Amino acid sequence: MEPRAFFVAGRPEHGEGESTVHHPYDGRPVGRTSHATPDQVEAAVAAAADVAAEAAALPAHARAAALDHVSRRLAERAEEIARLITAENGKPVKWARAEVGRAVSTFRWAAEEARRFSGELQRLDTDPAATGRTALVRRVPKGPVLGIAPFNFPLNLVAHKVAPAIAVGAPIIVKPAPATPLSALLLGELLAETALPAGMFSVLPLPNDRAAELVTDPRLPVVSFTGSGPVGAAIRRAVPEKHVTLELGGNAAALICEDWSSDEDLTLAANRIALFANYQAGQSCIAVQRVYVHEWLYDGFLPRLVAAVGALRTGDPSDDHTDVGPLIDEAAAQRVEQWVDEAVAAGATIAVGGRREGTSYPPTVLTGVPADAKVCAEEVFGPVLVVAPVTDDRAGFAAINDSAYGLQAGVFTHRLDVAFAASRALQVGGVIIGDVPSYRADQMPYGGVKGSGVGREGLRSAMEDYTDPRVLVFTAL
Ligand code: NAD
Repeated sequence: MEPRAFFVAGRPEHGEGESTVHHPYDGRPVGRTSHATPDQVEAAVAAAADVAAEAAALPAHARAAALDHVSRRLAERAEEIARLITAENGKPVKWARAEVGRAVSTFRWAAEEARRFSGELQRLDTDPAATGRTALVRRVPKGPVLGIAPFNFPLNLVAHKVAPAIAVGAPIIVKPAPATPLSALLLGELLAETALPAGMFSVLPLPNDRAAELVTDPRLPVVSFTGSGPVGAAIRRAVPEKHVTLELGGNAAALICEDWSSDEDLTLAANRIALFANYQAGQSCIAVQRVYVHEWLYDGFLPRLVAAVGALRTGDPSDDHTDVGPLIDEAAAQRVEQWVDEAVAAGATIAVGGRREGTSYPPTVLTGVPADAKVCAEEVFGPVLVVAPVTDDRAGFAAINDSAYGLQAGVFTHRLDVAFAASRALQVGGVIIGDVPSYRADQMPYGGVKGSGVGREGLRSAMEDYTDPRVLVFTAL
């Protein structure tokens, strides 16, 4: 198997320490790659710094053309790329197809944003002393961006680093996750087909210790990190002077309010929660992990949820009909198994679920879980749901907020006043009304509070993040 090239200042290259990428479902080799050498990293960083001024001056049509090209090429090669995502990440191919579709949109919307991202004209004469003055506020790239990506959306979360950088004219170096480098390298191939200046992008597979060194390079003033809390915290500590965006984990919750009470309501909520607790085997930062149900509805809801979870098809992720595939590796599945066992030892009951098989863990629902059990209080990042009754909406909001995290929450209600109350009360980056917390549109501001991170992604938000306002004040205009 030929190793896949990575990209140093836009050029395909091979490095040191070849390694094999394995399919999480059956362990078969699915690709080979190598790590960038120190010289290659230096070449990528130096080129990014050298090209920064030229990149910032690229006309909007050139930035948009490159982004449109990548969007088109992703769409043309969608099935091949979806199969590659499934092979390296193990997510069912239908979810991999959805991820490619999202990446197509991410690049297309970035092209559209690149065309209209212009800053603003601000009047200053609200103060008599400023009569005759006007400010032009332009957005100027802060400089080259270092994007560090996790394994769970190996294409679209890389797209969320790269597309806004190109849209604002900032060079970017991307470091993919060690388990899933192949889709990012394929994205590098598509970027290399564009007319972007050499140096504007690099895709560098690196071991974690070398990635940590790269974080501290002063020529990369912006670090955009998506991954786990401890690594995010270490990055923040390492470079307090840099602009760091952290998109971290969560233990997302859904609340079934008192008014969400008809048979159709409860069945809809059960089906959505069953699916989005277990899609990608729960390996999404906004997968549903906790469900709070109004106590009057609990007995009607639980059997529906158990039936919906039991109906999910588990197995080979290459099969079009599979809903739930394996976890990323056996250690991840063992950790989930251990956390469930600990909860059961602390008094929890398994309403549906079963035993781990290798890298696969069955979709599992737990009741009677103590609030401090890891499956409830920490990020399980596996196909496990904790369900509990609450006395009313306020108690539900309090239960959702009783978490070290705050990414998104889902509130099943028809009532506008409850929706607004939820949006005021919940300590999260986003509240989804009438659906699971797992909903994300790629253009909306996305990110968390508390342990879930700092800053926002979503195209426009990331573009603002990668740029500084620069004010030009005119006198007597
Ligand atoms: P991880 O933290 O183990 O790794 C993320 C990336 O950081 C990888 O590329 C890894 O190689 C790199 N890395 C590891 N140590 C590093 C260091 N010391 N310095 C620099 N880089 C380092 O996370 P993961 O297991 O790949 O991903 C799962 C986590 O990501 C979960 O916690 C999940 O919730 C989170 N996540 C968050 C979002 C979000 O948008 N909030 C989205 C997806 C995933």
